[in-house]
Amino acid sequence: RTIAVHGTPLPGSPPSGAVIVFHDVTDLRRLERMRQDFVANASHELKTPLAAIKANTETLLDWGLHDDAVNVTLLRQIDEQVDRLDNLVQDMLRLARLESGDEPFRLEPMALGPVVRACVEPHEPRARARSQQFSHDLEALDDSVLVRAAEEAIRQILDNLIDNAIKYTPEGGTVRVSARVDDRRVRLDVADTGPGIPREDIPRIFERFYRVDKARSRSLGGTGLGLAIVKHLAQSLGGDVAVESQLGVGSTFTVRLPRHS
Ligand code: ADP
Repeated sequence: RTIAVHGTPLPGSPPSGAVIVFHDVTDLRRLERMRQDFVANASHELKTPLAAIKANTETLLDWGLHDDAVNVTLLRQIDEQVDRLDNLVQDMLRLARLESGDEPFRLEPMALGPVVRACVEPHEPRARARSQQFSHDLEALDDSVLVRAAEEAIRQILDNLIDNAIKYTPEGGTVRVSARVDDRRVRLDVADTGPGIPREDIPRIFERFYRVDKARSRSLGGTGLGLAIVKHLAQSLGGDVAVESQLGVGSTFTVRLPRHS
């Protein structure tokens, strides 16, 4: 909150004035706490793969020269952890760039249909490899449906949501991407028949590093930052993201974007 007090000049005297500014310290404290939480969470996330890499390199240095099979296993594990660190650092950078307010994308009017189709199709083989039914209904996205966006932003939003849908849905489940359009907005749905999200966790899953099941997310290669990135991206395009979910039935993530006319 800012309060400004202006002085009134006396008649005949040169103009003078005073401005007193009070900042609401509770906002500043909240921001500072969020920053501290982020640094603590990020350090913790970085420490886990680093510890695994350190343990494996020590084992390799101490014992590894004699047994090729063991060496390969240890090196493979190191390689996985390095990939995990790489994903984490990339997601952290993405989020930092979005949060700094420096627009990382150039937004321009574009037809949404071709971009969405190009994003969705490459996910099909991974769903099939998990024996999932993967389908899409994007008929509504005809040539008249334009949004003001950047291809990269749409891609990151859909990649994150579809990735989650496939990875959290058990083998044999269903993942469906669909689009609906009205005069003002486009709505993209990513629906799955996965485990669903407990009601009490729903308000928090778009927070940085929040996971319903930490161990499960980590074992599936998650960084805990994907949905925070999706939320920022949707907002930077003038839209929003929401989820409806039922435990044991599935989840539907919905992104709404304003149409450009
Ligand atoms: P992560 O890298 O852990 O997947 P996200 O930010 O993408 O991080 O998601 C945050 C958490 O939300 C996940 O850890 C998971 O608990 C939950 N979640 C996200 N998508 C789904 C989904 N489709 N089905 C069930 N839970 C989900």
